[in-house]
Amino acid sequence: MTVLAEARALQLVHGRADVRAAVGAARAAGETVALVPTMGFLHDGHMSLVHRARELADRVMMSIFVNPLQFGPSEDLDRYPRDLEGDLRLAREHGVDLVFAPSAAEMYPHGPQQVRVEPGPLGARMEGAIRPGHFSGMLTVVAKLFGIFGPDVAVFGQKDFQQATLIRRMVGDLDLPVRVEVAPIVREADGLAMSSRNVYLSAEERARALALHRGLRRGHELFAAGERDAAVLRQALWAALRVPGIEPEYAEAVHPDTLEPVAAAAPGTVLLVAARVGGTRLIDNAVLS
Ligand code: AMP
Repeated sequence: MTVLAEARALQLVHGRADVRAAVGAARAAGETVALVPTMGFLHDGHMSLVHRARELADRVMMSIFVNPLQFGPSEDLDRYPRDLEGDLRLAREHGVDLVFAPSAAEMYPHGPQQVRVEPGPLGARMEGAIRPGHFSGMLTVVAKLFGIFGPDVAVFGQKDFQQATLIRRMVGDLDLPVRVEVAPIVREADGLAMSSRNVYLSAEERARALALHRGLRRGHELFAAGERDAAVLRQALWAALRVPGIEPEYAEAVHPDTLEPVAAAAPGTVLLVAARVGGTRLIDNAVLS
């Protein structure tokens, strides 16, 4: 058998009806479906979600959509990196069965979206405070994708910790019939969390950007050495980010479910950082264990 040498067929579709037909066919064949939502410009972080999805379902489907609804007016919607050809190559190599790459008109056929999903208090702080409207746009498109695909399971990355927490909460609060899985952060060899936005970084900025991971590692070391005062951990994050060429936005130690700042760190407490390096916003986090 030469199964490995055989490239799997990847179906590329642009319409919601095509997705429904493909999911319907999978279901008729008794297969389960996993969805991996992305904005494309794929990297190994996305591929780790694909591999997790493959463990969880018979069919792995991916959406590639740079969702205008989740970008603020001064954000990088227009220059967000796009490379559908490259994405399809990678998706095919990693055994994705179907890619849904809709236009904005296909996703929002009735014009401006009127009914939206509001994140509530979990979306008010950190990313929500820096990017007003972002989580409403994100949750709305994820809810739409759940409606379009009707997947058994959807896989997200811990890289966007607050996002994953909000999606879990949305699924619970709205009783959406989908299982949410969250996969660990994939990093470059030197520790930088993989991100489509890393392509914006110059060589110098790329080196500076390591401060985010350095701070998280320091926080983790302190915790491992017995430090439980969350203020001390936050201080360590800030210290790593207060360097020339970096504009820190937040450095937090929060409860994983409530996202409320904690006074005492415990296993499961999440350290989160966000900073601008040059013109690029970067986020990263670590769960204490
Ligand atoms: P994006 O294309 O940036 O919207 O990301 C799509 C999905 O991939 C989200 O669930 C992200 O959390 C996840 N993701 C992005 N970067 C990474 C990474 N470095 N490791 C793991 N998952 C990631």
